[in-house]
Amino acid sequence: MRGSLNDKNPLPNQRNLSARKHAEKENSDLEIDDSILRDFIQRMENLVLHAGEEIPSFTRIYHKHELVCETFNEVEKNKDSSFHSEILCIRDAKEKLKTRYLSDCILITSLEPCLMCAGTILLSRIPKVIYLLPAKQGEGISSLSIETIYSRNFFPELVCIPAEISKNAFKSFFKARRKKFN
Ligand SMILES: [Zn+2]
Repeated sequence: MRGSLNDKNPLPNQRNLSARKHAEKENSDLEIDDSILRDFIQRMENLVLHAGEEIPSFTRIYHKHELVCETFNEVEKNKDSSFHSEILCIRDAKEKLKTRYLSDCILITSLEPCLMCAGTILLSRIPKVIYLLPAKQGEGISSLSIETIYSRNFFPELVCIPAEISKNAFKSFFKARRKKFN
């Protein structure tokens, strides 16, 4: 019965191991430099000019410092509220990298991912999420409960890097909308 004794409690070790692996990875593939952020912001500035009706949500996924794909919200275009840029980008990256899990990838996005996108990020095992504008309390990935986080044995590192471009883009988007509907 020795085997079953050994197998009795394998989870904590596995957890420690994956935490250690995670930490090691953080030091290399998951670091981003300023040029990636600068490039993201520049591209976003460009896209926002042509955003039209869409919420200015722009997402990129990097795999080991290489840009895999980028997407803009397509909710209005497709008349479907699930077409958030994060979901589109994750789908695209999986197709390009031919993998179900994006464990070596970084997702960068203009606004903190909503709860729908948070679910997809968790299921896709994306280890690092960077966003340029926090969502309202209770509406974004950072508002997920501790129970949700602990029950998963996996949760991405969340990094908010506030940037004026994102703040201004959302501000003017909602200002324009208010005008339209008032
Ligand atoms: Zn979303």
